[in-house]
Amino acid sequence: GNENVDELSEDSIKQVLRKVPVPGQDGDIISLELLSGLAVRAGIVHISIETTPDRVEMMEGVRKNCELAVAGMPGVLNVTAVLTEERKGSQPQPANAANGAKLGAEGVDAIVAVASGKGGVGKSTTAVNLTMALARLGKNVGIMDADIYGPSIPRMMGVDGHPPSIGDNRLQPLESYGVKCMSMGFLVEEDSPMIWRGPMVRGALEQMLRDVQWGQLDILVVDMPPGTGDAQLTMAQRVPLAGAVIVSTPQDIALLDARKGINMFRRVQIPILGIIENMSHFICPHCGERSDIFDHGGAKCIAEEFGIDFLGDIPLDIEIRETSDNGRPIVATQPESPHAKAYVEIAKKILAGIERAQTLQADQAPKISVE
Ligand code: ADP
Repeated sequence: GNENVDELSEDSIKQVLRKVPVPGQDGDIISLELLSGLAVRAGIVHISIETTPDRVEMMEGVRKNCELAVAGMPGVLNVTAVLTEERKGSQPQPANAANGAKLGAEGVDAIVAVASGKGGVGKSTTAVNLTMALARLGKNVGIMDADIYGPSIPRMMGVDGHPPSIGDNRLQPLESYGVKCMSMGFLVEEDSPMIWRGPMVRGALEQMLRDVQWGQLDILVVDMPPGTGDAQLTMAQRVPLAGAVIVSTPQDIALLDARKGINMFRRVQIPILGIIENMSHFICPHCGERSDIFDHGGAKCIAEEFGIDFLGDIPLDIEIRETSDNGRPIVATQPESPHAKAYVEIAKKILAGIERAQTLQADQAPKISVE
């Protein structure tokens, strides 16, 4: 990521805000010194506007106009303007003081990434069904769609809309099948062309982790963007991951990419919880014969080669595709099906893996000895 590409400046935003009139007063929010805070980070703009309680109604219109004006600026990904009654001079906290700091999510015990070396291997389908399986195992779970290139969690979880805001800058996650969901798909127009640069990725992540009221969660599953590029690396580095699960299909080419994925997480010292082989084999619904359409067993070989756990395989099945693409994840809607049970078995292994990783971390932490 290169900070210099982030050309959106506070000055350019102020220029735009000068064009927002304040009804009944001779001036704009800048000349009237009503701008009490401005924070720009990675295409995400927070604006605070000073008001007194008796003027809130009129200022609400001004607030909206500020959002509209700034939203139209090139490079702006998201803008929130809020009315404040703070004393002059108090600035909002910068979005994240230390640029290299890890982004925490308040109240979340463990964040687990579901990743793949390339797109189309069923990463999102697996992430959704594993989330459901973890919920079935009694865990409090949420799912965060970090697949900024093609957010599919809204469709797969059968949930859409804009997350309601609470308080100043926080968002309430949407809920589906008892699971809290957050997706870039809720925040940006679908199909809107976007080029995600390093700083923007950080901004989006910040919004979805820090600015979302996740509440108390045992596990937050993160559906990562496919691949091992800049955006993925940024996420692996910035999100305090308890571990990563790699999804691959059995073809050589997919496995090659899975290797890259494993190496990426290793480089940034994220524990790999294991690898899943998706679309592993096909059972003919008519004759019951099994065929290994994309070959079989490659993920297991990679697991052995890298010394990581093989978590299990999921067959290529029309029911999985239909339920996944129609917002009715199979683990939630057909819990007694063999596929659902396969996901639950994998989820159990993931839970054990998280526990191992956390114990290991605790062991490595500096000990305080009491004399
Ligand atoms: P990715 O997140 O890796 O891009 P998706 O989860 O979006 O992949 O899956 C791509 C397509 O494959 C979707 O239409 C999905 O329903 C389908 N799919 C995923 N896993 C399976 C499976 N095991 N059997 C059948 N279809 C699957």
